[in-house]
Amino acid sequence: MSNFDKVRIVLVNTSHPGNIGGAARALKNMGLSRLYLVAPKEYPADRAVWRAASALDVLDNAVVVESLDEAIAGCGLVVGTSARERRIPWPLVNPRECGTRVWQEAAEHDVAIIFGREDRGLTNEELHKCTYHVHIPSNPDYSSLNLAAAVQVLCYEVRMASLADAEGVLPSFDEWDQPPAKAQDLEMYYKHLEQALVDIGFHDRDNPRQTMTRLRRLYGRIRLDEMELSILRGVLTAIQNAAYRMKKVIESKE
Ligand code: SAH
Repeated sequence: MSNFDKVRIVLVNTSHPGNIGGAARALKNMGLSRLYLVAPKEYPADRAVWRAASALDVLDNAVVVESLDEAIAGCGLVVGTSARERRIPWPLVNPRECGTRVWQEAAEHDVAIIFGREDRGLTNEELHKCTYHVHIPSNPDYSSLNLAAAVQVLCYEVRMASLADAEGVLPSFDEWDQPPAKAQDLEMYYKHLEQALVDIGFHDRDNPRQTMTRLRRLYGRIRLDEMELSILRGVLTAIQNAAYRMKKVIESKE
């Protein structure tokens, strides 16, 4: 399996089927093939077929799912695209760094680049599932590219990285002894963490503020590996058990 086969291009809630076809063509032109469609508004559609031209195979093999979590399950790296600045800054890579990282990591595990809706991009919640954000440095006065055009730019950078790799001029990738935690396991961990923080009275779901977002960003910056994640889950369970025992002791004294 080549690195190309481990790169998923994920389109979230796309409105215009023409963009889905255009994206399929952009993938195939650059040697990619795995298109994921999260709850597309109108699909299958003739307009997608027309715009796909000779990339019909990519369109035929597109995986349609209901949620972003399904589309990124199994991925060790998730990159979210953004046409503008967001309120809480996230680790940011430029398109070239994105191509390099995606290509290098795709030697080891599945990776995903996710693209947002034509009218309002990705939600904060979706962006907070990502390890990195990538912004195409466009004209600040008109920064939002057409969806399929943005897919084209980032797929092109993956191709450039593959060519640099073939020439032996790609910077070397930091080796790590454990695989990175996968997207679905991280989601489970954040749910567990939130519950544990509620159990010990640190976190209030009715007044969440930015706590969970900031914790996601903290853990994301560390790039937890699978072993570290399972240790942390064990720690949470022990904390919850201790809190439960303490509660019982207090209740028995009342
Ligand atoms: N009005 C929306 C723009 C959405 S453009 C917003 O403000 O977010 C549709 C999608 O194309 C975006 O979600 C993103 O995936 C991609 N895109 C468009 N312009 C981009 C840019 N300059 N950098 C990175 N991705 C971009």
